[in-house]
Amino acid sequence: MKLFNTLTMKKEEFVPIEPGKVSMYVCGPTVYNFIHIGNARPMIVFDTARRYFEYKGFEVNYVSNFTDVDDKIIAKAIEEGVSSDEISERYIKECKQDMADMNVRPATTHPRATREIDGMIEMIETLIEKDFAYEVNGTVYFRTRKDPQYGKLSHKNLDDLRSGGRSLLVTGEDQKEDPLDFVLWKPKKEGEPFWTSPWGDGRPGWHIECSVMSKKYLGSTIDIHAGGEDLVFPHHENEIAQSECCNGVPFAHYWLHNAFLNIDNRKMSKSLGNFFTVREIKEKYDLQILRFFMLSAHYRSPLNFSAELMESAHSALERIINAVDNLKFLAGNAPAAGADAMSQEEAASMETVKGFGMQFEQAMDDDLNTADAIAAVFDLVKYANSNVSETSSKAYVEAVKQQIVSLCDVLGLIVDKKAEVLDDEIEKLIEERQAARKAKDFAKADAIRGQLLEMGIVLLDTREGVKWKRA
Ligand code: AMP
Ligand code: ZN
Repeated sequence: MKLFNTLTMKKEEFVPIEPGKVSMYVCGPTVYNFIHIGNARPMIVFDTARRYFEYKGFEVNYVSNFTDVDDKIIAKAIEEGVSSDEISERYIKECKQDMADMNVRPATTHPRATREIDGMIEMIETLIEKDFAYEVNGTVYFRTRKDPQYGKLSHKNLDDLRSGGRSLLVTGEDQKEDPLDFVLWKPKKEGEPFWTSPWGDGRPGWHIECSVMSKKYLGSTIDIHAGGEDLVFPHHENEIAQSECCNGVPFAHYWLHNAFLNIDNRKMSKSLGNFFTVREIKEKYDLQILRFFMLSAHYRSPLNFSAELMESAHSALERIINAVDNLKFLAGNAPAAGADAMSQEEAASMETVKGFGMQFEQAMDDDLNTADAIAAVFDLVKYANSNVSETSSKAYVEAVKQQIVSLCDVLGLIVDKKAEVLDDEIEKLIEERQAARKAKDFAKADAIRGQLLEMGIVLLDTREGVKWKRA
């Protein structure tokens, strides 16, 4: 499997640190509002990467943080007259709801910055001891010049960046030794949350949070660190500097970055005000459609959001769901046990069906090319539509259906709405049974009970009415 590594700017074969295991850290959102669909892109893309690793048999330790101390959170708290913690609690809860609606699985661990302050103080102390950091009037800075590798991720011309920030140093308005030095700890301001530290009361800088949480939950060296491309510089560059200078070992082997979700070809962002929240989109569309839309482009290609593209995602997804529905119908009507073994012809056809699975894997192995992987699913759907019929055996129909469902599951797309349909069907049969009982047609009522039992449904006649459960 190959992944494009921002560190080397090349597609590289993925070799895990520990065979069969993947450790992955994905920078999460700052929680001061509902997340927008730009924030949803890394969530969906890297959740899909995780699902694909698991499909290939890896055990994935997936960590994604919530940044819950930040200027914007503090501003929102002041605006509402509540604590910062109340704001972040609220939007973490809302974010988790959005994730569930997009079928983004919860991370193995979702650390919160404010719960990890001790670890941050410890890392800053080590950096000061090793001379990689210095304190001026309660602010601690990272000394970028001391790190010969600084700049290796963003491949930027550091001299240009330095000269851009030099004027402040010359006029003495900045207390930094170098324009590229960045904050590890800042002193408290009136009305802001703070923690006690060797450098006075204050709070951590943003970059140190991820270095500390990644180390705590995944170890000093991890397989994959990921996030949106705007994080390459300075956030990820600074994370590398802090972690590697503190720990003395490489921080992450592979750095993955998704391109932006744009609107009218401009980055969707809160500051530009050109965004839709996931919640707003949910009012109009099933969020499976949003997920499909996101995965219809390669994660490193910019993607422009539009109603037309959402409509075509909608009809494309419907085509897969309809094919699966049709296969379910055919399986239900196929000759019952005894006659359901696959014919020789069908067994041969299964080789073709598996071939689409290989096509899917080839696409995903090529730097998670979900666009091509979706194309493989469509080739399979087309094949199923023309090769499965009323005369097919149940075993064959089920196997074809299973192939579609399991590939879609890797993409996090639910195309087998089995449970919902079944629930409706159950309710309808229960109503029929109640009507039969009312009409004193006990034979019919018993027959329906038997039919439900065969479907694995047990009825419970309670004082509050009929309840049911799956056996
Ligand atoms: P933030 O809350 O701004 O730190 O963003 C959380 C995550 O969303 C980061 O990985 C960002 O890179 C990513 N992100 C923010 N806006 C966009 C966008 N328009 N398109 C893609 N990713 C984005
Ligand atoms: Zn981060």
